[in-house]
Amino acid sequence: MPSRNILVINCGSSSIKFALVNEGQSSFPLQGLAERLGSPEAVIHFESTAGKESVNVPDADHQAALAQILPRVEEAAGGHLDGIGHRVVHGGEKFFASTLLNEETLAGIEANIQLAPLHNPANLSGIHAAMNLFPRLPQVGVFDTAFHQTMPEHAYRYAVPDILYKEHGVRRYGFHGTSHRFVSKRAAEMAGVPVENSSWLVAHLGNGCSTCAVVNGESRDTSMGLTPLEGLVMGTRSGDIDPSLHNFLHNTLGWDLAKIDNMLNKESGLKGLSGLSNDMRTLTEARKQGHEGAMLAFEVFCYRLAKSLAGMACALDKLDGLVFTGGIGENSAVVRARTLDHLKLLGFKADDEANARCTRGVAGEIQAVGSPRVLVVPTNEERQIALDALALLDA
Ligand code: AMP
Repeated sequence: MPSRNILVINCGSSSIKFALVNEGQSSFPLQGLAERLGSPEAVIHFESTAGKESVNVPDADHQAALAQILPRVEEAAGGHLDGIGHRVVHGGEKFFASTLLNEETLAGIEANIQLAPLHNPANLSGIHAAMNLFPRLPQVGVFDTAFHQTMPEHAYRYAVPDILYKEHGVRRYGFHGTSHRFVSKRAAEMAGVPVENSSWLVAHLGNGCSTCAVVNGESRDTSMGLTPLEGLVMGTRSGDIDPSLHNFLHNTLGWDLAKIDNMLNKESGLKGLSGLSNDMRTLTEARKQGHEGAMLAFEVFCYRLAKSLAGMACALDKLDGLVFTGGIGENSAVVRARTLDHLKLLGFKADDEANARCTRGVAGEIQAVGSPRVLVVPTNEERQIALDALALLDA
């Protein structure tokens, strides 16, 4: 049987990230990004073995952009596309695994719009567009939240009145599930430990950041909550703050909820602390030059990350290793080293040479002799989405 092709689509409110995944090839035959959709500057960037190309598509919406993308995908797939995998942000309590998309499951995604008012409608517009263009192709939804549906109640409940959970779904859901699932499985393979008898701490550190405790291939706790704002310091997100901050800012500065929400999501985190950038590469360079904001942002980021990992350890009975992934986790030896410094009490220590070697897609173990295992594992959410789609096609 020839190796199969799955198109993976990740729709934002004005963007579509896409990748063609072939089950027999490690790199993607075609990938790209459509951005600024719905504006006169709308553009699609394509990248393949043949090179890079950008095509202007003024005022294109999701469907118009997909209509431009799909013929190229079909060509790159040799005329044989087997299915489409859609990243969906919020599956609420309804979806604990990836699912084939049909009328019933689409209604389930719609029912979760209130939990992700920015993300789920964008995901749905991509799904509807792809279904209109390819009505006969199987389409699969893969949820950021699904992996965390195995969290025990003591980990997912907030200490607020019960009725808010029972009637309004106010609880911790967690995100980045596709990445935590992919890298914890990969870590078990790399370490030669059976997934079904393994325990990991995972730090996914990209623009968004989260930690996760993974036991026997299941999430037992994670740092993000009702929304992706809870937990670690991120590029522009604050992570945990005192919930009374809203009241304080309203009373002292007269800020309304929208302004506070925007500040916490878009103007905080590394960007807010450093006053310079949300990008860890920029901050790493500035820190070397003695930029005070960059030094502070770096220190808070690593300390809060270590604190979260130490807290996640409560969900484990044993520890097979700590996994770093995401743009920062896969590339920043200084962030890894500083974070491990804060975890001395748990016995963690980096081997400087091995730590420096693991960047730009190089996976490996980076612990010093005597330390628990520490792994750098490149994430690949697109491949995991394609694997889920293929498994559902097989079923
Ligand atoms: P992601 O969202 O996974 O693409 O990760 C984006 C983050 O990874 C940004 O903060 C980047 O600055 C960071 N990143 C990428 N490469 C490096 C690097 N070599 N050193 C430090 N941070 C990096």
